[in-house]
Amino acid sequence: MFQEFKINNLEKFPKDLDTLLNQQREIINEITTNTKISYSEVLKPLQDLDEELGLFFTPLSHLNAVMNSDETQKAYEASIPLLSKFSSEMAQNTALFKKIEQIKANDNEAKTVVSHEIRDFVLSGVNLPEEQKKRMEEIALKLSELSNQFSQNLLDATNDYELIIEDEKDVEGMQTSDLDAAKEEIDGKTVYKFTLQIPSYLAYMTYGPNREYRKVLSKAYATRAPENEEVIDQILALKNEKSKLLGFTNYAQYALETRDANKEEDVIHFLNDLADAALPQAKNELSELKAYAKRVDNIEDLAGYDVGFYSEKLKKEKFNFDDTMTKPYFEQSKVLEGLLDIVSELFAVTFKPADVPTWHDCVKPFDIFDEGELSGRIYFDLEARKEKRGGAWMNDWETHYVDSKGNTHLASAFIVCNFSPATKENPSLLRHDDVVTLFHEMGHAIHHLFGQCHERSVSGINGVAWDVVEFPSQFLENFAYEAAILKRFGFHHKTKEPISDTLLAKIKETKNYQAALGILRQVEFSLFDFKLHQDLYQGEEVQALIDSIRKKTSLLKTPSYNKFQHGFAHIFAGGYAAGYYSYKWAEVLSADAFFSCLDEKAGFDKERAKGYKEFILAHGGAKEMSDLYQEWLGRKADVKSLTKLYEIA
Ligand SMILES: [Zn+2]
Repeated sequence: MFQEFKINNLEKFPKDLDTLLNQQREIINEITTNTKISYSEVLKPLQDLDEELGLFFTPLSHLNAVMNSDETQKAYEASIPLLSKFSSEMAQNTALFKKIEQIKANDNEAKTVVSHEIRDFVLSGVNLPEEQKKRMEEIALKLSELSNQFSQNLLDATNDYELIIEDEKDVEGMQTSDLDAAKEEIDGKTVYKFTLQIPSYLAYMTYGPNREYRKVLSKAYATRAPENEEVIDQILALKNEKSKLLGFTNYAQYALETRDANKEEDVIHFLNDLADAALPQAKNELSELKAYAKRVDNIEDLAGYDVGFYSEKLKKEKFNFDDTMTKPYFEQSKVLEGLLDIVSELFAVTFKPADVPTWHDCVKPFDIFDEGELSGRIYFDLEARKEKRGGAWMNDWETHYVDSKGNTHLASAFIVCNFSPATKENPSLLRHDDVVTLFHEMGHAIHHLFGQCHERSVSGINGVAWDVVEFPSQFLENFAYEAAILKRFGFHHKTKEPISDTLLAKIKETKNYQAALGILRQVEFSLFDFKLHQDLYQGEEVQALIDSIRKKTSLLKTPSYNKFQHGFAHIFAGGYAAGYYSYKWAEVLSADAFFSCLDEKAGFDKERAKGYKEFILAHGGAKEMSDLYQEWLGRKADVKSLTKLYEIA
């Protein structure tokens, strides 16, 4: 039923992959050149090939991330060029494109598959005359070089700088772990070195007591990589050219072609509305902070470089609360058990431990049963170890679909986290943030696992628009702040006492601390990113644009030396161009869905949750998310749910 997780021979892997790709090339060639033209004879077998390739390759990419070794790296690095060559061949297969264009699909899912296929071919330039196709390739190549250069400049600038602090007084009150990381011996003398690397930089900006040093450090951070100004101009010009070649007026419009958001105005209005909603409370939050800084340190002119420092102090004064107080109540095994119980109850499924091979002793595999019938499999790999890449993520492996022979496949997924392992004294205990992370990844996992589509390309998380991918994860994550939910598994690992109402209330209050200021910041980044891709901005115009946005979103004056954009790697070196708004866009859906399913007493409304499973999760990427949402609740998601989630009046 399910694949067994194993790789027989890492050394031979790239060679076996090459063999598989060549077999697939032959089949694709046959499909492309024969006279058959029905959906079932073209797109069904092509989806089988996608699944086959995914099943073969995912164990290696997964192993390379969770059991990294020289062998996995070698196999992985040798495989990547084979795969990219294969996928670019596919994208340039004009004959196949012409064939798919003529396919008449009968049902809705198949229609979506056909339209996605055509869309993706067109966006890769398949319809363009030869010369412009060549230009598209040049642009793609140049863009990947430029984004690389952008990161490299940023990295060099980040590594080039250090601030040496000699006087103990200037690090007073900082956390021991931060100080240990900063400590250095120079000429037999202990000094503290801070850099522009995020952990070190944030440590001083949040806890560093010397205002002058905070100023110096923040200026160094905000003036990194001036040479990126030139790189940004080139990136923007090429993206603009690319979108025009494809017939769009600008890059934002091109990007929206594959997103849930339909029109440029929709994104802009949404962001402006959100800023308007957050603004009054943000002003209050800032006044409170200013009053506090004046009271404790007689600061008259609170600056950007003071915000992190006084926010942290004020938070401590207001809530007197930190992770160590809740940690003893969140024992890893109990939290996981609790999560599975909640998901079982919420969605009427059951989890049974599966006795199957995995990649490490600590991995826990479960089979999932829906109304008594086997429906999927999930693997939890939750503890940090040195062979594992940092962070947390969900990875899909098998997909639920019906293949060209009529066989139904079931879905499987991995959840990977980096929680602290057990020690001699204690079992593995989670911070509340870790509990949230586990719920978040489980939200992604059930989006994939509860998919019921029969077409692979739109089943589970496949084919889901990029700006709504975080909807199901944030949806489930929201429950991890609810007292009724946390009470189910929050018991002290030694005394077995339940977590107190006071602690539960603090978990929620601290979550919403300075929430409106946080929203304004996100809106500022999002508006800047989106507007920047609505036209061609060059040189000084880029700065002028961000200045004009800050008039609305920035309550403190930004110094003129601040060149935030030179470090905005998300959009210039990551995949977020004209897409930074997605974080908030998906959050509206998740907040609105959350309130629809919330029952303050029980934790959740089972009937509603059932609807969420049937209308949203089951359909994966088969329809636009906004349409699925409309079908579920008979209305659109309300933007106000987002402000309600942060308890913004
Ligand atoms: Zn996520």
